[in-house]
This record gives sequence, C-alpha cells and structure tokens, in this order.
Amino acid sequence: MFSRILIEKDVVDYPQAKKILKQFSAIPTKEIDRVDDIFGRVKKPYLQKRESLQLFLGKKRGQRIKLAPDAYGLAGEPHYYFIHAYNCIYECEYCYLQGHFHSPDIVLFLNHDEIGAEIEEKIQQTNSPIWFHAGEFSDSLALTHLTGELPYYFDLFRKYPHAKLELRTKSANIKELLKQEPAPNIITSFSLSPAHRIKATDLKTPSLKGRLAAMKKLAEHGHSLGIHFDPVIHEDEFEKCYQELIEEICQTLPLSSIEYISIGVVRFTSSVFHQVKRNYPNSELLAAEFTSSFDGKVRYPRPFRLWILGKIKDLCLKNGISEEKIYLCME
Ligand code: SF4
Repeated sequence: MFSRILIEKDVVDYPQAKKILKQFSAIPTKEIDRVDDIFGRVKKPYLQKRESLQLFLGKKRGQRIKLAPDAYGLAGEPHYYFIHAYNCIYECEYCYLQGHFHSPDIVLFLNHDEIGAEIEEKIQQTNSPIWFHAGEFSDSLALTHLTGELPYYFDLFRKYPHAKLELRTKSANIKELLKQEPAPNIITSFSLSPAHRIKATDLKTPSLKGRLAAMKKLAEHGHSLGIHFDPVIHEDEFEKCYQELIEEICQTLPLSSIEYISIGVVRFTSSVFHQVKRNYPNSELLAAEFTSSFDGKVRYPRPFRLWILGKIKDLCLKNGISEEKIYLCME
C-alpha cells in the first residue's frame, strides 16, 4: 500500500511505531525531524494516491482538538473533533480532502496521550453532554488494525459518561473495535448510500453489504451505532433507492442499536468543487445544478436540497425511525 515510510525521530521508540515498521519491514524507511518539514511541501496531485502513497508517522503538534462547525452533530450540544491522522486510503469522488492538503500521503499521529490529555481537559470543564469526533481528516476505522489507538480512547471515554465519542467511517474494518467492551457513549457511525452509488462514487470503499454486515456484528456485540445518509446525491428515482436502502437497514439491524441518523446533501467548498471537476470530469456527481450558497459552499439550490432532505426524513419516519433520532446536517 505504501511506497515509503517517513518517521519522526521523536516517535521511533513508540511501541506503535515499532509495530507499524515491523509490519511494513519490506518498505524503505527514512527518519525525519518533523512531518511538517516534508508533508505537503511539494505539491503532489491528489490522484497520485493511486500509484504511490507515502506513510508519515509523527506527533500532532499545535491544535489537537477543534470546535466543529454548527450543525455538525446533534443540535444544542458542543461538538469538537480531534486530529490523529491526515488523509485516507479510500477515494470518494466528493471527498473534502481533495486539495485540502497539498498531498494525498497518509499521516498518522501517534501521540494519542497528548491528544487525549487535551480532550480530557475539555471534558473536565463541563458536566453537560459534550461530543468528540474522530477522523475529520481521515476515516476513523480504516487503519485501526495498524494504528492501535482504540483501547486508549475507549478507556478515556469510559471514565466520562457525559462525554460522547463518535468514530465516523465507511470502513468494515471492525476487528479492533470488536475487541473493545462496548460503551454507550462511544458510537460508531457509518456513512451509507444506495449500493450502486457506493460502487460508482465511493471508490475503493467497502460495499453497502460489507458495511451493513459490519454494523450488524457491532450491534450484536452491543456497540452503539449512528448512520449518516451523507452525502445524498440526487439522481432519477433517488426516493426509490433510499426507500430500498432504509428497508435494508431496518431488516438488518435492530433500530434500538441506532442512536441517530443524520441526513446531508452533497456540498463542497469552492476549492474542492474545482478539484472534483478536475479529478472526476465525468462523474455523475456533477450532473445536477449547483449554486454557491449562504456559507460560500457549493450546493444544490436551497429549495431542491430542502426537498431532498424532507423526502429522506419522511422515508425514515415511514419506516419506523423516531423523529428525535434524525438530524439534518450542515443546514
Ligand atoms: S472515506 Fe471519507 S475521508 Fe476517505 S475518501 Fe471517502 S470521503 Fe474522503
């Protein structure tokens, strides 16, 4: 998967670094001072990830947790995300990481103790519900067999039942998660779309069947789940496709295992939209009309996207999902 590993001198003695290097012992490795000295310094085209991907291992310095934008999660509660990786092994055509960094190379930060200390400090400032989301700049589960951080975060959040952790993913890589004792405040949330849409747009990601099978297994083990119907991409018969998707979910999973469902329509910053047009000029994504909306993001026109959100919400309600579990994302 990787053509070269670049590792900061500061983390070479970390047990996880040793484990990763052992796993990839055939790959050339180079010691470096700081990830920031090299990562993204020379612009590397996003689609080069198909041919050659480097792996950086280092420490996250600077701001490790950030306040999430409005409507990021369930309303009325503060949401933060924490940063323990940059970039992703998958290749969704709408991915917001296109052009976000100047490189698609994968960066894994291994100083979870320092990231966790900042999370803990924030949690201790309140007794009210507070959310933390892993994987704003990566997929939260895809590489957990390598990165090995899940036991650390499970132990941390188990101490603070008022604090919630969301692991957001499109992966079916649940091996490490199944080793953890479930905690009601730790929720694994899966982005789901109709099966043909995943195949066409979420390149290299597990299929709908694969994701649902992973969710089923997690539910059977007592893990809490979330679902993101996000991004919804309009197409002819989208209502029929989402009706079938929701039916399949309801037939596969007990609704009691689902803590929330978010619904969000496809959206881009203008620079990501530019990248999508460049990287995937023939994508079905680009078939609809887009406009620049209230926050500068590129979206479907407002009445159209509200109509889409309403239709999917209605389908959820008709299939027995309770209204308080549903929220509309980024609107
Ligand atoms: S799974 Fe998420 S982070 Fe990874 S390519 Fe897809 S949209 Fe981007």
